[in-house]
Amino acid sequence: MPHIMPHRRMKFAPNELIDWYDRSRRDLPWRAPDVTAWQILVSEFMLQQTPVARVLPVWPDWVRRWPTPSATAAASAADVLRAWGKLGYPRRAKRLHECATVIARDHDDVVPDDVDVLMTLPGVGSYTARAIACFAYRRAVPVVDTNVRRVVARAVHGLADAGAPSAARDHADVSALLPDDERAPKFSIALMELGAIVCTARAPRCGLCPLEGCAWQGAGCPPAEGPARRVQTYAGTDRQVRGRLLDVLRANDSPVTRAELDVAWLTDPVQRDRALDSLLADGLVTRTVDGRFALLGEG
Ligand code: SF4
Repeated sequence: MPHIMPHRRMKFAPNELIDWYDRSRRDLPWRAPDVTAWQILVSEFMLQQTPVARVLPVWPDWVRRWPTPSATAAASAADVLRAWGKLGYPRRAKRLHECATVIARDHDDVVPDDVDVLMTLPGVGSYTARAIACFAYRRAVPVVDTNVRRVVARAVHGLADAGAPSAARDHADVSALLPDDERAPKFSIALMELGAIVCTARAPRCGLCPLEGCAWQGAGCPPAEGPARRVQTYAGTDRQVRGRLLDVLRANDSPVTRAELDVAWLTDPVQRDRALDSLLADGLVTRTVDGRFALLGEG
């Protein structure tokens, strides 16, 4: 990002953004009033690298089946990996299971409400810790995801896109926008929602935006600088091969042979070996003493 000083004193009218949020927010099940901090944590794990539309069919069944950390910890790691299904990046499922075990064992089955304590949990980084503190416990902490960074880049800095992330600068930018009162948590959530559904990456819908004085609009909507972002592909990647191998193991309650795994990806044996090695290294798959393969904990 070019060196542009943030407008530290800039504050958007909090009530306009909050009123917009009350009118326009998506009706997502993990936002219902009776959802617990643990269930919000589960949604945040699932949403880390997966779009809302793919999490929506999985989350309700998951929290019905395992409503608390102790219930999740009591499940086998293999069952958790199976239930994760096609959400992708399955290391998150393993970390979620570990996180549940730590909360059940060390925190009386209650999700901590402090950002620093949350960040000691498996799989919980800075963003997730802040999201849980804000969404579940209404703490006035800046919650900064890609969407929020984009809104700040445009509305505050007058740039089409956010540059490389910088936790200190990003948190300072959002802290400077938060109202100094009890509206702060809702403002933070509303800012994120604005980036998700109005100030979108490709086609911001500025006519619907409740923010007044957007610097990017004021500057005449200058285009993004630098090279266009690469669109991530999935087909043919090691991620796809890992997914195919895990599909075979999920479909079997007992260990499978190497030949049964091999048919999952015949295109490139070298790539298949690499994918299997990485699953073994991640601890998602184990090798039995007789040389077969199984999901974690089933070998
Ligand atoms: S006016 Fe447009 S670019 Fe500016 S914050 Fe709103 S949606 Fe984003």
